[in-house]
Amino acid sequence: MNDLHNLPSVDALLRTDLGETYINAYGHDLTVLAIREILEEARSAYLAQETKIPGQQEVLERAQHRLHAWTSPTLYPVINASGVILHTNLGRAPLSAEALRAIQDVGGQFSTLEFDMEKGERGSRLAHANDLLTRLLDAEAALVVNNNASAVLLMLKALASGQEVVIARSQLVEIGGGFRIPNVMRQSGAKLVEVGATNRVHLSDYEQALSVETAAILRVHRSNFAIVGFTTEPQLNEIAQVAHKNGLLAFDDLGSGALLDTAQYGLEHEPMVQESLADGADLVCFSGDKLLGGPQAGILVGRSELIDRLKIHPLARAVRADKMALAALSATLLHYLKGEAEEKIPVWQMMAAPAEDMRQRAETWRKALGRGEILPSRSTVGGGSLPGESLPTFALTFRVSQPHQFLAALRASPSPVIARIHDEKVLLDPRTVLPHQEEDLLKTLESVLK
Ligand SMILES: *Cc1c(COP(=O)(O)O)cnc(C)c1O
Repeated sequence: MNDLHNLPSVDALLRTDLGETYINAYGHDLTVLAIREILEEARSAYLAQETKIPGQQEVLERAQHRLHAWTSPTLYPVINASGVILHTNLGRAPLSAEALRAIQDVGGQFSTLEFDMEKGERGSRLAHANDLLTRLLDAEAALVVNNNASAVLLMLKALASGQEVVIARSQLVEIGGGFRIPNVMRQSGAKLVEVGATNRVHLSDYEQALSVETAAILRVHRSNFAIVGFTTEPQLNEIAQVAHKNGLLAFDDLGSGALLDTAQYGLEHEPMVQESLADGADLVCFSGDKLLGGPQAGILVGRSELIDRLKIHPLARAVRADKMALAALSATLLHYLKGEAEEKIPVWQMMAAPAEDMRQRAETWRKALGRGEILPSRSTVGGGSLPGESLPTFALTFRVSQPHQFLAALRASPSPVIARIHDEKVLLDPRTVLPHQEEDLLKTLESVLK
């Protein structure tokens, strides 16, 4: 004799008050699916003699958990208290209020994405952000694509496929996420010719590697590592001169590509897009969501005749930028044009903030919580820029018995917080916490400290 007939039926469960609430919240079909799944599991567990038959209430509660799990987003905001400004795993650059508004405007309504308002006919999405970029950078032409990885691929494929591209051995960078210069080169159909030694490359190395097969010399910025000690490398302007003297192209993959000087904050000088163009690079490419502080995008600037060839290549269609990225990018570029980037773009606000401000914010948190100790620490820029460089900061720290569990509890909170551990202490750096998140941060800390 078994009790399986005591298991409530799907219909009976759907007719309960809770059942109806679930149907309203999650829809009829999904609710049925969840209840069926829970009933099936209960049946199997009973037959395997693991458990008793659950009652109606119990089944409904389990179904709600299941429905919640199925419908909760996996992509949601977190509070970044790690002190890493461009945290690739946390979505790189947070956008300015104006960039967010631009996304909202264009995303929720029809737009001029590919419509020429003067002529009332089809226009080109490639027009957006172009004027801003050319004016800002004093470049002949610009093209925005999906990300910088696709910008590099498009540049090589359209302009060097089947030919050779010369690059210094010290620049065969892996960015992470599987992006390696030698692999991208292979995908593009261009043949990689590496020159020099790992630590030292001379102009003559480039000159000797050129052949009738060569299309271009590529420089790649070492965005995420440094080579120190007995090193040398020609300047970009020298490389460009060698390229041009031989009728070849000079490409520069800047990676991050700053438009402002990072040295003003006591950091190393990150190469700037304007400098690469002035040094004679025919095409320069960089990311939209690294130091630029905008949305994910790949930006190519340089000679218009080359940009035109990229635009008509079939790959350009495959890697085209999305309308919301174009809207946010334009709004971000406008901040630079108006000279308000440091005030409006979150990543520059974070870099520009003096350590003393961090001490004050950490102190406010400490007072609110009545716990913790303020200690000097270092924030990093991250995101494939300024490797080994850091900014002085002050962090709120906690000495807890199990720091890793503490971090896990912070992550599991309704307003999740990403902190880090240093010297066995849990450390929260105000530099990367956006001002509007402070209240939630304190709530999370308060409940986890309890
Ligand atoms: C980050 C980076 C890329 C890739 O840019 P994404 O925008 O992430 O696609 C390419 N090259 C260099 C040198 C980089 O630093």
